[in-house]
Amino acid sequence: MTPVVALVGRPNVGKSTLFNRLTRTRDALVADFPGLTRDRKYGHAHIAGHDFIVIDTGGIDGTEEGVEEKMAEQSLLAIEEADVVLFMVDARAGLTPPDIGIANYLRQREKTTVVVANKTDGIDADSHCAEFYQLGLGEIAQIAAAQGRGVNNLIEDVLAPFAEQLQQSENEQQQQSAVEDQEWDQDFDFNNEEDTALLDQALAEQQDDEDAEQDLHKNIKIAIVGRPNVGKSTLTNRILGEDRVVVYDLPGTTRDSIYIPMERDGQQYTIIDTAGVRKRGKVTLAVEKFSVIKTLQAIQDANVVLLTIDAREGISDQDLSLLGFILNAGRSLVIVVNKWDGLSQDAKDQIKSELDRRLDFIDFARIHFISALHGSGVGNLFESVQEAYQCATKRFSTSMLTRILQMATDEHQPPLASGRRIKLKYAHPGGHNPPIIVIHGNQLDKLADSYKRYLSNYYRRSLKIIGTPIRIQFQEGS
Ligand code: GDP
Ligand code: GDP
Repeated sequence: MTPVVALVGRPNVGKSTLFNRLTRTRDALVADFPGLTRDRKYGHAHIAGHDFIVIDTGGIDGTEEGVEEKMAEQSLLAIEEADVVLFMVDARAGLTPPDIGIANYLRQREKTTVVVANKTDGIDADSHCAEFYQLGLGEIAQIAAAQGRGVNNLIEDVLAPFAEQLQQSENEQQQQSAVEDQEWDQDFDFNNEEDTALLDQALAEQQDDEDAEQDLHKNIKIAIVGRPNVGKSTLTNRILGEDRVVVYDLPGTTRDSIYIPMERDGQQYTIIDTAGVRKRGKVTLAVEKFSVIKTLQAIQDANVVLLTIDAREGISDQDLSLLGFILNAGRSLVIVVNKWDGLSQDAKDQIKSELDRRLDFIDFARIHFISALHGSGVGNLFESVQEAYQCATKRFSTSMLTRILQMATDEHQPPLASGRRIKLKYAHPGGHNPPIIVIHGNQLDKLADSYKRYLSNYYRRSLKIIGTPIRIQFQEGS
């Protein structure tokens, strides 16, 4: 399960700054879902080899009375949902009464808590940080979030216990392949058949390992996500009702989704139910309300995400935030527009044009118009799920990817940079789920985003990749 890190602290200590640095984005998922406070932000972070979800708890205002009260319910909940709390203090401002209040609260929780002294740039950090030991929460981590100093080390220290061995061996593999890539780069010539054959062979070995792992995952995990009331429970029940299922009634904490195995046309699936449907048949219990953490973890854990949108509500900012999160996580995606029953033709046309307009940045996902209530269109979802999953796990050879690169550059030459033509030499697969294509060449840092998008679209069209994002990485050759 993806670890959850909560940033806690009084205003102005640098929580947003750290959040932005960790998530490398300003498009945080802002929780203004009904029942949740506005100022909580959620993001996905990938730092120092760790994948985790980060929450900026925002709303703790130390100037009001009684810290317990002020750590508004939602911030409290964020602390409960987190695996690790980073309690941020301001090294320049020194220890303040609200810090002490927050520390008292945190000490009562049995949560892994690390005191993080921020803004240690340009001051004598050790002497400024000494007073924070009075908080009674152990060691003080020193960082400068604005410059990023100390951030990687902090995350490494905090998340090391969560990193599974698997993760470690993945990192080693990546490093190994980076070294190998470099060796290849030195005298690799893609016009030389022997060279490409050798590279293909090396990659084939790597893929055999991955295939073995993949066999264990032939069970496709589908997360059904969306805002409250879009019809997730209804859709889950509809899907399960149409197929033979075994429903596990797993005890779970508030943040756990329920995993329901099912089979359809000989294919094993697991439905990750974020809506909290525990029983089916006559009694349906929607046990838990919407939880952002639950949703984000389900996305992380899924192979294919069904993003459910309410046709009657149109596309909201939260839908777009969820989309951003799904894209960031590199997950395969099928868009489900629900409650398509009983709409006038006018209403339907209007929704379709809104979809075209607001989702034009997602050009790879299939869109289905369904009625979970009546069941129309539900069965067809599985074709798109299959297609997306297959595309996400497809294998491509180095020679094929290199050939496509050649065709793309023949049709449209890369631009000049400082008077010299940017050179794209060859391409090879860098992984799947989502598919990664690694392109080697010279002066790649000068390649314009528009050209990168062109390449990405060219690959998508040539390889017929639907339902999954593709990632292109660039590696500077010798
Ligand atoms: P938040 O209210 O806790 O989210 O705090 P912000 O992230 O908005 O930061 C508050 C102020 O502190 C901003 O003006 C930041 O530019 C500044 N700040 C944040 N991190 C650092 C840092 O590492 N060093 C310095 N000198 N200033 C910082
Ligand atoms: P969730 O919060 O996303 O799990 O949403 P629910 O499945 O609980 O559905 C919210 C409401 O929308 C319920 O009253 C459902 O009966 C209704 N609903 C769900 N799907 C449809 C649909 O396809 N058409 C119509 N008209 N109503 C639906």
